[in-house]
Amino acid sequence: MSRSAHPAGPRHADVLPEGHYSAPPADLNRLDEKVWSRTVSRDEDGVVTLGGIPVTALAEEFGTPAYFLDETDFRARCRAWADAFGEDADVFYAGKAFLSRAVVRWLHEEGLNLDVCSGGELTTALDAGMPAERIAFHGNNKSADEIEKAVRAGVGRIVLDSFQEIVRVAHIAQSLGTRQKVQIRVTVGVEAHTHEFIATAHEDQKFGIALAGGQAAEAVRRALKLDGLELIGIHSHIGSQIFDTSGFEVAAHRVIGLLKQIRDEHGVELPEIDLGGGLGIAYTAADDPREPHEIAKALRDIVTRECEAAGLRTPRISVEPGRAIVGPTAFTLYEVGTIKPLDGLRTYVSVDGGMSDNIRTALYDAEYTVALVSRTSEAEPMLSRVVGKHCESGDIVVKDAFLPADLAPGDLIAVPATGAYCRSMASNYNHALRPPVVAVADGTARVIVRRETEEDLLRLDVG
Ligand SMILES: *Cc1c(COP(=O)(O)O)cnc(C)c1O
Repeated sequence: MSRSAHPAGPRHADVLPEGHYSAPPADLNRLDEKVWSRTVSRDEDGVVTLGGIPVTALAEEFGTPAYFLDETDFRARCRAWADAFGEDADVFYAGKAFLSRAVVRWLHEEGLNLDVCSGGELTTALDAGMPAERIAFHGNNKSADEIEKAVRAGVGRIVLDSFQEIVRVAHIAQSLGTRQKVQIRVTVGVEAHTHEFIATAHEDQKFGIALAGGQAAEAVRRALKLDGLELIGIHSHIGSQIFDTSGFEVAAHRVIGLLKQIRDEHGVELPEIDLGGGLGIAYTAADDPREPHEIAKALRDIVTRECEAAGLRTPRISVEPGRAIVGPTAFTLYEVGTIKPLDGLRTYVSVDGGMSDNIRTALYDAEYTVALVSRTSEAEPMLSRVVGKHCESGDIVVKDAFLPADLAPGDLIAVPATGAYCRSMASNYNHALRPPVVAVADGTARVIVRRETEEDLLRLDVG
């Protein structure tokens, strides 16, 4: 069927309004494998399937909105990262991207380690059987209770984030009669190429201790003196949604500069260096993430080269991908409700969720794509904005995307690449019930985080 070069849209004309989009895609029914998880396809009836199960069946059984997570893809990504970094490096999955007990078990089975950044994440990890020595504990303001719980559990490392915390962790470890393995998180002054609000390595920020002005060197001096601490390395995390390794190159150069200074001053070669996470994924066809083996090779080469130049033994490397593992593995399934064409602008397509299940568009101006998944359509492309049902005009899920002009209430649409930072940042705004996470593998779907109920809301509200 032929299709004009212009979107027919809601009767609008030749001029498209300002927006994020480029041209409408040649075929609205095609699913770009860059943004959809690996077991997603369309069946002969045109219905999108995940692990062989049609989304219409998933919607009927689990309701909408809901996150559907491709367990096969998740496990494959874990293995790809573990294989890429090999035996002499460690991959820590950043639990804040999305954590549940099932996820912890998959990580454990696939040989990954786990980053947690709160007592709640630590409890989830331990409860699901992650060995404590494979857990790293992060955070800029860990409470004394959280630290004590982590030390008692025997976590593999606590990443120290301030001068006060150096003393606090040392004291707690010593009072428990143990020596806690720690890293010191430093800020290297590198800003990763990304949105201002999600870059975390400016010096003017709450995380870490600055290399600049000798702060980090002073932190090391203090940590080395304390009996309760065993300093095993230096940590740096430079941002998020990063696509090239040049930022890591500068960061590694500066961190290794510190390792050299430590060797010269204390005669100690710290055995580990952690380069953090922040590796990007494809949210739209415009994004081109690199494969884990390319990233691994690039980071390894950088560290080896810098250490040779500094005359140091190459330390053990660790990395902490969160988004790059879980992000691409899930989509959010919504039912279309109200459709409101605005002449000369775009069509507002309301769904049964919104900023409560995906805050990233409102918070970071994040870009997503969307597709009609309950059927195919040969209708003209219609410039659309997918919005939620919340009382807030910024409640936008997908800012600009093309959907078929015959879209109707009751159709199912899906937003891919919502595995990271969507369920984990979900809220109860407007007393929305947070959606379930359903894992699909080999033709079987099961709830791993159930949908919230009105009873859940009332239970917290003690009246
Ligand atoms: C958030 C975070 C990560 C994971 O970031 P992604 O963008 O999800 O890869 C890793 N390490 C630290 C210290 C973080 O704060």
